[in-house]
Amino acid sequence: MKIAILTGAGLSAESGLGTFRDKGGIWTKYDLTQVATPEGFAADPALVHEFYNARRANCVESEPNAAHFALGELQSDSAHEVTIITQNIDDLHERGGAKDVIHMHGQLLRALCANCGERWDAPIIMTPTDLCPRCSAPQTRPDVVWFGEIPYAMETIQQKVSESDLFVAIGTSATVYPAAGLVQLARGETRELNLAPTDAAGAFDSGRYGPATSIVPEWVQSL
Ligand SMILES: [Zn+2]
Repeated sequence: MKIAILTGAGLSAESGLGTFRDKGGIWTKYDLTQVATPEGFAADPALVHEFYNARRANCVESEPNAAHFALGELQSDSAHEVTIITQNIDDLHERGGAKDVIHMHGQLLRALCANCGERWDAPIIMTPTDLCPRCSAPQTRPDVVWFGEIPYAMETIQQKVSESDLFVAIGTSATVYPAAGLVQLARGETRELNLAPTDAAGAFDSGRYGPATSIVPEWVQSL
């Protein structure tokens, strides 16, 4: 069976990785338009790097949880053809054993040159004066997709979802474009695994609700 899995912040929440959407979370002191847009980066790159340096440190200190491990096993050990698409910019899928992950919103641990497009492994601390290893421009940025930018690999993602026999959204509300469009593209069975039914619950054939570390391993076992 071809299984396409879309994961979001709810998967990494139990690993201690909050998002800036969390009320009272550690990132709420930052203004999204300042730290997660190309305009914000142009205006104050030091602030943007400070924000992502903190998130990168948080990521490095965190550990994959039972849900990441279950999905890693599913992808590497099962007879199914499993595509993992994630909105998360952490590397917990990889550390949880997944071999092939499509990071539609980029990765905290990668750097991108805004001048020439070169990508490389990000140092733990990035600064506005870092030089691109290829073109030497001081325009290095985190390789993450900001508001107003196009998510990566959308054509591949849409193809994988539309060809899947089963599309599963995990820890993501799937109410926001482009994730919202993916469930519409799925021609096979669709399911959501979330803490609680989302506004998009009606768009899925079925759902299972609870903490990701419980419901994801249970679901993988049931396959
Ligand atoms: Zn460059």
